[in-house]
Amino acid sequence: MGRLVMKFGGTSVANIDRIRNVARHVKREVDAGHDVAVVVSAMSGKTNELVDWCRDASPLHDAREYDAVVASGEQVTSGLLAIVLQGMGIQARSWQGWQIPIKTSDAHASARILEIDGTEIFNRFGDRKEVAVIAGFQGINPQTNRITTLGRGGSDTSAVAIAAAIRADRCDIYTDVDGVYTTDPRVVPKARRLDKIAFEDMLELASLGAKVLQVRSVELGMVHNMPVFVRSSFDKPEDIDPHGTPPGTLICSEEEIMESHVVTGIAFTKDEAQISLRQIEDKPGVAAAIFGPLADANINVDMIVQNVSEDGKTTDLTFTVPASDYNRARDTITSSKGKIGYARLDSATDVSKVSVIGSGMRSHAGVAAKAFKALSERNINIRAITTSEIKFSVLIDAAYTELAVRTLHTLYGLDQA
Ligand code: ASP
Ligand code: MG
Repeated sequence: MGRLVMKFGGTSVANIDRIRNVARHVKREVDAGHDVAVVVSAMSGKTNELVDWCRDASPLHDAREYDAVVASGEQVTSGLLAIVLQGMGIQARSWQGWQIPIKTSDAHASARILEIDGTEIFNRFGDRKEVAVIAGFQGINPQTNRITTLGRGGSDTSAVAIAAAIRADRCDIYTDVDGVYTTDPRVVPKARRLDKIAFEDMLELASLGAKVLQVRSVELGMVHNMPVFVRSSFDKPEDIDPHGTPPGTLICSEEEIMESHVVTGIAFTKDEAQISLRQIEDKPGVAAAIFGPLADANINVDMIVQNVSEDGKTTDLTFTVPASDYNRARDTITSSKGKIGYARLDSATDVSKVSVIGSGMRSHAGVAAKAFKALSERNINIRAITTSEIKFSVLIDAAYTELAVRTLHTLYGLDQA
C-alpha cells in the first residue's frame, strides 16, 4: 500500500467518456490499496478559449480577473471526475486551490507555489479512504485572497507540489504520450522512449524545448526528490497489471540510473530570434549598455557571442531572445543606440536552437566537437554556440532543424535498432 498522486492532462479529460476512462485508472489504484490524490487539467483547448475570451473582453485586462477566468477550466474537470468516481462507488471529493489551500505568490498568471497544507487530504485518506480530486494550475494568494494560476502547463507543477506536500511515494503524470523520448518522435521516427532519466537531464530537456512537462514541475521534483513517472492515459486501465511495470519514463535521481549514455536526448525550439549589433566600439561598459535595458524590460537573453568586426577595430555582438520578445528587444536596443554606439543592427527570426543534453558530458571530452563536424558535413552553418556542463546548443537556420536533429540523434547512438 502506498500513497500516489495521479495527474491527468487536458486530452485525457477532454470529454465525459475520457473522464470515465480516467476514473477507471483511479479505481485501479484505489483497488490496489493506495491512497490517491488526483490532479486534473482543464479539458484540452479550454484554457486557450478562456485566455482568448479575456483578450477579447479587453486587450489590457486585469491580471487578477484573468486568473479568475482561466482557473475555471480545472474547476469543471475536478468536479466532473469526482461525480464519475462517486458513481462508481468510490469516495471522492473535488478541491479547488483555495480550498486546500495551495498558497502562492501574487504573480498572477505565473504564480509560484509557496506552501500547501495537505492535512485535510491526509486525514480523509485515513478516515474514509476518500480520493482527493484537485484542480491543477491554480492556487490562492494568502495576502489578497485572490485566485492565482501557475502559468501555462502549470498543472504538472501542481501535481508534483501536492505529491511533495502529502509525501507521496510517486507522482504519476498521465499524458497523451507514453513517456519521455530521446527527441520528438514526430521529427525522428527512430527516437527511443527512455525508461529512466535523471532530474537534471529532464530539466534541461524541458527547458530547451521538449514539451512533455512544465519546467517548474521538474525543478520541484528535483528539490523534493519526488520520483515522477510519465505514462500514457490511453492504455486501457483493465490491461494494466497492477503489480507489473507499465511502459513509461521514470524521472528520478541520478543515483538510481545504472546504465547511462553520454548523451540522453536532443531538444529543439524554433521560437528564437537573433539580433546582431555590428561595429560596436570595443570598450568597457558596452555589454552593460546592451543587456541592462533588456533585463529591465524583462527580456530573457539566451545565447551571446562576441567577435571582432570586419574592420578589425570594433566588435560585433550577437545574442538571441525568445521570438515572442523580438519586437520589444529590437525597440529596446534601438532606443539605446546612442549609449551603445553601434553601426548596424541585423536580425533573423527564422532561426532555431538545437540542444544536446547529457549529464554524461561532465566526464567526457569532445562531445560537442563531434557535433560541429557532423553538422558541417551536412553543410549546416552554426550561427552561435553555448555550452554548459551537461549540454550544448547551436543556433542554426530554421530550415535545417529536422536535418540537424536527425543527424545528431544518429551521431550519439540514440536511434532505436
Ligand atoms: N489548463 C492549463 C493550461 O492549459 C494548465 C495545464 O493544463 O497544465 O495551461
Ligand atoms: Mg500539459
